Amino acid sequence: MNFGLTDEQRLIVETTRAFVENELYPHEAEVERTGHLRLDLIKELQAKAIEAGLYAANMPAEVGGAGLDTLSWLLYEKELGRANYALHWTCVARPSNILLAGTPEQKEKYLYPCIRGETWDCLAMTEPGAGSDLRGMKATARQDGDDWILNGTKHFISHADIAGFAIVFMASGEEDSPRGKRKKITAFFVDKGTSGFTVRDGYRNVSHRGYTNAILEFDDCRLPKEQILGEVHKGFEVANSWLGATRLQVASTCLGRAERALQHAIEYAASREQFGQQIGKFQGVSFKLADMATELKAAELLTREAGWKYDQGTVTDEDMAMAKLKATEVLAFIADEAIQIHGGMGLMDDLPLERIWRDARVERIWEGTSEIQRHIISRALLRAVGG
Ligand SMILES: Cc1cc2nc3c(=O)[nH]c(=O)nc-3n(C[C@H](O)[C@H](O)[C@H](O)COP(=O)(O)OP(=O)(O)OC[C@H]3O[C@@H](n4cnc5c(N)ncnc54)[C@H](O)[C@@H]3O)c2cc1C
Repeated sequence: MNFGLTDEQRLIVETTRAFVENELYPHEAEVERTGHLRLDLIKELQAKAIEAGLYAANMPAEVGGAGLDTLSWLLYEKELGRANYALHWTCVARPSNILLAGTPEQKEKYLYPCIRGETWDCLAMTEPGAGSDLRGMKATARQDGDDWILNGTKHFISHADIAGFAIVFMASGEEDSPRGKRKKITAFFVDKGTSGFTVRDGYRNVSHRGYTNAILEFDDCRLPKEQILGEVHKGFEVANSWLGATRLQVASTCLGRAERALQHAIEYAASREQFGQQIGKFQGVSFKLADMATELKAAELLTREAGWKYDQGTVTDEDMAMAKLKATEVLAFIADEAIQIHGGMGLMDDLPLERIWRDARVERIWEGTSEIQRHIISRALLRAVGG
C-alpha cells in the first residue's frame, strides 16, 4: 500500500475542501440555529455542487458519477464530512450504491434522477422492535398474485421527508437455518404517494441539526413485482453486496470533523494565554494535542487501509468494522478534548465544537453500534481458532 496521495487525489481533496469551506460553512450557523435546511438553499448549493463535479461523485463514471476508486472516494467523503451533515448530505448528495443493483428500468426511474439532483433516496431497515437485530423485523411483505402487500412500521429513517422514494426491507417469509427459523427478507422500491404508504415526522435528535429522520408506515400497501430490488427473499444479499462500504463512509466523514476540531484546538492552544503564557506550553494541554493527533492518524490509517483493500478485493468485515469503530470513537474523544482545551468558550455556539461534540454521538450508534462492530471483530478473532 502506498501511503502518499496521487496528484489526482490531492486535487480531489483541494477541490472538495474549497467547496466545503466556501459554499457550505457560511450556511452552517443558519441550519444549526433553525434546525432546518431551506429548499431554495438546497437548490442553490446543489447547482453549484453539480457545476463543480462534486454531486453524486461516489457513483461510477458510466452512470454519470466521478468514477473514483474507493480510497479517492473516502478522501472526498472526509472533506465533505467537515461540514454540517444536513448541508453536505443533501446539497452534495451521494446516492446509495444499492441503486446500482436495480434493473435498467429501475435505474431510469430511481438512480439517474438521484444523480441528476432531481430527487433523493432513503433506506428503511430499522423498526421500533428491530435495530441491531434486523432479522427480527416484524414488517411484512405478502405475495398476492403478481403483487406484494406491505404492512408494518419503520423508524429512524434518515431524510425520508425529502426523499422521492424509499428502499424498504420487509420480512417476506421464513426458512430453516442451523439456529432455527429465520426470516427471509426482500427489498422493495416504494414511491412517495403510493396508497398505503405514509411518511410521518420522526424524533427530534441531538445530533446533526437539519438532518431529519422519519417514521414510515405501511398499511396494506400494494406493489407490483417490478418494485422488487434484487431477487425475492434476497434483500440482505443485495444489501451486503452494495452497502458494505457505507461503514467506511461514516468513518471518513468522522475523520473530517475530527480534523477540523483538532485544528481549532491547536490554534487556540497557540494563541490563548493564561498565567502569562500560551496554554499550549502547559504539558496538560500539549499532551492532549499529541494524543488527539496520534489517535486521528491511527483512525485515518485504518480507514485508508480498508478502502485500499476494498479495491483489491481483500477487505474483510473486520477491516471495515475496525475503521468504523475507531473513527467514530476518535471523533468523540477529539471533540471532547477540543472543548476542554477551549474551556468555556468551547461550549459556545460561536465555534463549531459544541455541535461537532453533539454530532459525534450518533456516529457510534448508526450503521451498526460500536458494540456490534466489536462483535464482528471479536467473532473473526475467535472463529479463527474454532471459537
Ligand atoms: C439519527 C438516526 C438515523 C438513522 N437512519 C437510519 C436509516 O436511514 N435507515 C435505517 O434503516 N436505520 C437508521 N437508523 C437506525 C440505526 O441504524 C439503529 O439505531 C442502530 O442500528 C441501532 O439500533 P437501535 O437504535 O434499535 O438499538 P438496539 O439495537 O436496540 O441497541 C441498544 C443497545 O444494545 C446493544 N446491543 C444490541 N445487540 C447487541 C449485541 N448483539 N451485542 C452487544 N450489544 C448489543 C447496542 O449496541 C446498543 O448499545 C438511524 C438511527 C439514528 C439514531
